[in-house]
Amino acid sequence: MSVVLDKQVNDFIATKRRLFIDGAWVDAASGKTFDTPNPATGETLATVAEGDAEDIDRAVRAARRAFEDGPWGRMTPSERGRIIWRIGDLILEHLEELAELETLDNGKPLSVARVADVPLAADLFHYMAGWATKIEGNTISLSMPGFDFHSYTLREPVGVVGQIIPWNFPLLMAAWKLGPALATGNCVILKPAEQTPLSALRLAELMAEAGLPAGVVNVVTGFGETAGAALAAHNDVDKVAFTGSTEVGRLIVHAAAGNLKKVTLELGGKSPNIVFDDADPDAAVQGAANAIFFNHGQCCVAGSRLYIQADRFDDVVSGVAEVARSIKLGDGMEPDTQMGPLVSDEQLRRVTGYLDAGRGDGATAVVGGARHGERSYFVEPTVLTGTRPDMSVVREEIFGPVVVAAPFQSLDDIARVANDTPYGLGAGIWTRDISKAHALAKKLRAGTVWINCYNVFDAALPFGGYKESGWGREMGHEVLEAYTEVKAVTVQL
Ligand code: ADP
Repeated sequence: MSVVLDKQVNDFIATKRRLFIDGAWVDAASGKTFDTPNPATGETLATVAEGDAEDIDRAVRAARRAFEDGPWGRMTPSERGRIIWRIGDLILEHLEELAELETLDNGKPLSVARVADVPLAADLFHYMAGWATKIEGNTISLSMPGFDFHSYTLREPVGVVGQIIPWNFPLLMAAWKLGPALATGNCVILKPAEQTPLSALRLAELMAEAGLPAGVVNVVTGFGETAGAALAAHNDVDKVAFTGSTEVGRLIVHAAAGNLKKVTLELGGKSPNIVFDDADPDAAVQGAANAIFFNHGQCCVAGSRLYIQADRFDDVVSGVAEVARSIKLGDGMEPDTQMGPLVSDEQLRRVTGYLDAGRGDGATAVVGGARHGERSYFVEPTVLTGTRPDMSVVREEIFGPVVVAAPFQSLDDIARVANDTPYGLGAGIWTRDISKAHALAKKLRAGTVWINCYNVFDAALPFGGYKESGWGREMGHEVLEAYTEVKAVTVQL
């Protein structure tokens, strides 16, 4: 390995990582542990406690105590905001260390973790810190004749929140979830993905250092079917926030039905990226490639259906294929790596299974189309053409560096095709015609539309899905609704 690991990273992964409950590091009640591998080598990276239902229950009780009786609820909004801001500062102070942890655990290039995952996580906390002092209710005039009332609303924290996050942006997803929950005064049990538990555990240490009281954030590592399911079903959890597959999202909804806890979901996608014949050619090709190949296509919002106006189809496809061929695959810790391995053997089998299905259905790989090398979980960046709308590679989320490209004729035609999916997370439009861009943006059934750009995220921009891509929004001020209850108070004067 050409990079010497940060000393703190070495120390961190050399020690068995325990659960963070009530401000203390504890073993799982069962005493069980699991290994988290480095996807670039397949070797064990670190050993982590395997929490299950009993540990979730312990963490929920800690969060409940912290919510009802702890110093958190008595702090002023300004004090809470300063702690959240400090978490953002500490993330930046530990940028290199966190980026290395993320690359080792997830496989993504270190260069990407340094400029995207870690700074965006810090930015999220900084943005949300500002909201802590701006959570407000309203005064309301009532219409009942003959009486005089004073009515107002209070916006209060939901209470104890379970948060279940995926492995594609482990630290950033933790930030997206924790930032708004803390800004609105909730207490949290965070369950990171079993593939990538490390950065959330390091974040727990940084949050304690920032002054977050014990029990306000608890981190329970473990598996989805055990720890995750127990959290979603727990009767003393007031809300569950989930990011992951649509399939597991449905399980969360069922599990949450017991106590009818509030649910927000950020789920899968099959996002259309639409290139008109008047688009800037270089920008559209680069944008289409970035939309699918960023993070190895392991993005819920990946631009995995590329639609190109017929006249330009061959040029754009060959341009994207050219970019795909030039991408350097390798260990994320190597400085010149542009794409690392997929996160796990399971994902490798999933993605190559789709490639086989596409080939079997008659699609053609213009570039890629197979596993890369024999070792680890690399997949070649792939562009498929000759698809039909009913093929699984067109309809289902692949979650790998695989894009299907198809031609279209007109704006109305493409609006219908783009919306012909159960998902509705993102969409991209490439054109120099401003009214065409806005006209299409209105027609698309998706939570995010990018025009002449893709994968632009900001803590201030709401993000989430229409249709089966989810419920509710992350980030922006919209997310605050999901973490607050509204109480209407009326006084007869
Ligand atoms: P992916 O398919 O991308 O791996 P998943 O939806 O399986 O994503 O996982 C996302 C998160 O959901 C992970 O933290 C995982 O442990 C958790 N999870 C998986 N199954 C369940 C379940 N039945 N109940 C609750 N959480 C689950």
